[in-house]
Amino acid sequence: MKKNIKEDPKKKELALEVIDRLKREYPDADCTLDYNEAWKLLVSVRLAAQCTDERVNSIVPFLYEKFPSPQALAEAKVEEIEEIVKPCGLGHSKARDINACMRILVEKYEGKVPDDFDELLKLPGVGRKSANLIMGDVFKKPAIVTDTHCIRLVNRIGLVDGIKEPKKVEMELWKLIPPEEGNDFCHRLVIHGRAVCTARTHPYCDRCCLADICGKKGIE
Ligand code: SF4
Repeated sequence: MKKNIKEDPKKKELALEVIDRLKREYPDADCTLDYNEAWKLLVSVRLAAQCTDERVNSIVPFLYEKFPSPQALAEAKVEEIEEIVKPCGLGHSKARDINACMRILVEKYEGKVPDDFDELLKLPGVGRKSANLIMGDVFKKPAIVTDTHCIRLVNRIGLVDGIKEPKKVEMELWKLIPPEEGNDFCHRLVIHGRAVCTARTHPYCDRCCLADICGKKGIE
């Protein structure tokens, strides 16, 4: 990578100001997927692909009622899982991934979720976004979760320039965001993206806490 933090002091300064303002605006920055055990977040992030967190949260209690552990999901038939998770969309592939993923947890990690980014990436259905979410939320390690809200907002604000590919956005943000801030920052971008900087052509800039420092790129 040719650019580095030193070459972009203005963006780093902007990033710190955005972090600070969003922190004040949204003091709580929790993941909006419900979970009380690490393996359940792994299941939920797979179900959340092309589905709302609300719907995932409403479906998983039925899944855990029937399959209350990684072992139970590992031993289940894919069709049994699919029957429950199909309201989340992509039912068959999600059920297949969850079943395969839980089998690996049971066979390789004694039913535990590995706290290693590269090991997480090897699990079926787990991409960089999910692996970062697990590292940040479960293990409290540095993480940058580049979901659709994050990518839209950092482009509009001007922290990245016209980059839409999630991994590239993640790499650019690592240069700007203090590692310990990354996870909460991304959660706050999601909250702000839902409430204010919506995907509409005209987001609510008039009531945005970033209005005076935002580049408003792509906003008419
Ligand atoms: S000023 Fe407008 S474009 Fe910028 S973050 Fe706020 S709502 Fe989004």
